[in-house]
Amino acid sequence: MSDLRVRFAPSPTGYLHIGGARTALFNYLLAQQQSGTFVLRIEDTDVARSTQESVDAILDAMDWLGLTCDEGPFYQSDRSELYKEKIEQLLAEGKAYRCYCTQEELDAKREAALASGGKPKYDGTCRTRTDQPEQPYVVRFRLPNDEGVTHFNDRIKGGISIRHQELDDLILQRSDGTPTYNLVVVIDDAEMGINLVVRGDDHINNTPRQILLYEALGYQVPEFAHVPMILGADKKRLSKRHGATSVMAYQAMGYLPEALVNYLVRLGWSYGDEEIFSMDELIEKFSLNNVGKSAGVFNPEKLLWLNAHYIKTGDASRLAALLTEFLEAKGIVPSEGPDLVAVVESLRERASTLVEMADGAAFYFFDELAYDEKAHNKFLTEGHRALLSGICEQLRECSGFDEADLEAAFAKVMERFSLKFGKVAQPLRVALTGGTASPSIYDVLKVLGKERSLYRIERALTVLV
Ligand code: GLU
Repeated sequence: MSDLRVRFAPSPTGYLHIGGARTALFNYLLAQQQSGTFVLRIEDTDVARSTQESVDAILDAMDWLGLTCDEGPFYQSDRSELYKEKIEQLLAEGKAYRCYCTQEELDAKREAALASGGKPKYDGTCRTRTDQPEQPYVVRFRLPNDEGVTHFNDRIKGGISIRHQELDDLILQRSDGTPTYNLVVVIDDAEMGINLVVRGDDHINNTPRQILLYEALGYQVPEFAHVPMILGADKKRLSKRHGATSVMAYQAMGYLPEALVNYLVRLGWSYGDEEIFSMDELIEKFSLNNVGKSAGVFNPEKLLWLNAHYIKTGDASRLAALLTEFLEAKGIVPSEGPDLVAVVESLRERASTLVEMADGAAFYFFDELAYDEKAHNKFLTEGHRALLSGICEQLRECSGFDEADLEAAFAKVMERFSLKFGKVAQPLRVALTGGTASPSIYDVLKVLGKERSLYRIERALTVLV
């Protein structure tokens, strides 16, 4: 085990979205690569917005993506005693103070500051206050050194400095007694021994404030790496307007977790011009040094392309197992149909998602096919009776049903009726699949097997127009 300790710290106020998943993935990869520790912490201090449903949704999505944590999940809601203790410590040391300013007073100060062209920040009225009246208060951090500068070296963004004049006396505890994000994140990261914080760059402005809190609490400051955000094609922050942003929506749309993982990692990280990476390769090759500074643009076509790649090349038994759920959603009982692995093999070149594959596979499971009307009128006519009967006879004679047997049978039919391959295959295709588009006719015959195939041709012979 190395000393590296990283974490993912989602707020359970919704599902796991694409951006969060990428942050979790980067942390996971770093921990795996360096035999470090990946900690999962649920930041549920905002009681009003946090739900168990969201916690479950986040855990499910991480599980689906294969992002297993080494420690946790820890819940901030279990740690309020610790936070209280630390607030007391800061108060006792004069590093924090009680602020009794009312909202009206704060609003008035803000307006006055804006009117005189100043920054609308808290003016420090209560810094020197010593009484403790019986009225609601917040606890504020006493910004150390008003004239100072805080600097850190971000592992992705480079050197960042902020003048304390830009900062406010941060609220550490709300008037209802609950601690705020900036405080608890510092306490937890420090107490959990996190030494590299990798998170979205929407938090970059919080980092100098947090560094000052680390110092005030006597903790060692970790390293930081802020990952650029993800934009939609219109260069606006990725949102529902751009399509699904929830990880599990992609599962429901028939995406494979390895495709999403591969896609997410490339959204911001590059390795030459390579596009395809297994999780093992990512663990070996991922590096913060190759994470770009600027935002990545979400490209649904590329994700679809990667998904198609993994459907083409993935283990067929696993795909068959995954396909089951999608078939069942269509009312199909997979165990009543042909071998599912063979079904997958016959369709994997043609489907980009498991939803498409399930659509394409449906015909295999219905011997009582509904024929496409146009195809029926064109290819299942009295004029095709002799041909279809001839095919039926020839197939019945086959002792085996592999490619060679089928080719030989086809050759005989083509010769007997003086027809080219396509003219034989197309009516047969409609009889077997109900339509004119399907996997290769030999594949369809092999997957269906002799008995099902003959049944379907005989049935077609009863509906000729
Ligand atoms: N809970 C915060 C969020 O979901 C993350 C905090 C952090 O990573 O420091 O935005």
